[in-house]
Amino acid sequence: MKGKGFGVGKCFLCMKDFNVVKPHVEHIIHNALGGQLKCNHILCEDCGGKLNEKVDKKFLELFKPIYGRMNLRKDRDKNIKIKGQYYFNNKLVDVIFDGKNVYPKKPYYFENINEILVFCNKKVYKNFKKKLEKEFPFKKIIYKKIPISEVEFEVDINREIEEYKLGLLKMATEFAIFNNIKLSNFRKINNILLKKIKNDIEFVHFIPFGIIDKLIEIQKNDLSPYPFHKLMIFNINKKLIVYIELFSTFQEFIILDNNYTGENIYKCYMQKILKEEDYEISIDNRRYYKERNLYFEAIGIPLDEVEKRFEAYQEYCENNCLDRFQWEWKLIQEENRKRKYSTDCFDYIKRAVGMVINQINFFPIVYNNTTSKYLNERFFSNNCVVKEIKKIYKEEKFIEIIKNVSIFYHINQNLYQEEFIPFNFRKIFYRINKVNKEKKYYYIKTGRLNKISSFQKRYFNFKLEILENYIRANYYE
Ligand SMILES: [Zn+2]
Repeated sequence: MKGKGFGVGKCFLCMKDFNVVKPHVEHIIHNALGGQLKCNHILCEDCGGKLNEKVDKKFLELFKPIYGRMNLRKDRDKNIKIKGQYYFNNKLVDVIFDGKNVYPKKPYYFENINEILVFCNKKVYKNFKKKLEKEFPFKKIIYKKIPISEVEFEVDINREIEEYKLGLLKMATEFAIFNNIKLSNFRKINNILLKKIKNDIEFVHFIPFGIIDKLIEIQKNDLSPYPFHKLMIFNINKKLIVYIELFSTFQEFIILDNNYTGENIYKCYMQKILKEEDYEISIDNRRYYKERNLYFEAIGIPLDEVEKRFEAYQEYCENNCLDRFQWEWKLIQEENRKRKYSTDCFDYIKRAVGMVINQINFFPIVYNNTTSKYLNERFFSNNCVVKEIKKIYKEEKFIEIIKNVSIFYHINQNLYQEEFIPFNFRKIFYRINKVNKEKKYYYIKTGRLNKISSFQKRYFNFKLEILENYIRANYYE
């Protein structure tokens, strides 16, 4: 440090200035989950450590069966252990996946005529083999692997528990602070995160209400990118709401502030989740100096900006400082990586709506008893998701469908004409997708009814199943 402090701003938890305490690079979406959204001016090192202990560790433990099988990071947790089950001769045995191999908790063997087949952790194999050699001196001892594709992993995330909610509350709070939001209940949230008081923030599981959302959610894995992480922040009247979607599967609203008086906000962050091998960005080392300006041009940073940033880096760097070449290299890698992961929320919605809109036929409105019959015939004809949709949408009322469609499309006032005009996506209504008639504003009404809702449970299990199939198809060799 050269007497100028560590940077601008202050830590949101202890409120100390970064002139006094050292900021820490905070992953707003956890690194372990493949999160790319980082921020180095919201938390100090001490508080980052504190929250990691109190919140992150337990939250990540819940997601281990997912991210642990997805090889999301080069520097992944070496001590990863995921519990699963495997059938040995019709007997269900507890097994462990350590990120590379699957083995039973206790060494296991089968006796054949001439050989012994052994299943165990490689670390204990040597000793176990010796023991078997004594016991079966005339048989050949063979080490066998358990194929991961035949292992059952239980992804059983209880969304009602404190560990899950605190992790999301932290993410939502950080995303709000990252967007310079002033929360009226800021102190309370901090105390919840530090576990000084009980959490009474409202959480609402998302379920799709309108026809378009339902069609998108059912076919989400057909649209690139899948899976993704997404954070949205918006306000409705005095409510400040963060919508979090992890792995395109865990979809939650967190009502962060019930008394928000700040400016209107509607922001969205969305990123792809990539495999380990998709991480590397290759830059030709030898030709770097020759083509240096081309690299910076490609990532959109002017050379004088590079100069300024390097000077700032030199000023604040204390030890293990990179030299010019290493630093530039790192910058290019980071910027390139951001690009690789970045996804535009609203472009995605447009594509998603484009994907499903053909599955909906527009037709003249007839408000009579035949409507629902007509609706079924016209809406749900000739496509692959008919069955699934029919199960879920039996009860859908026509007027709701029109309202939902109108979130995405401007519908001609004269609805007897069979035409609709594609309209710029009305993002302000997106994910605030239920009209509350009494109060006359868009409001996420999903909450109250769904604590006991069986539809909500079925919906979540359906999403988990899609994710599980995706992991099996893409990450198993
Ligand atoms: Zn702090």
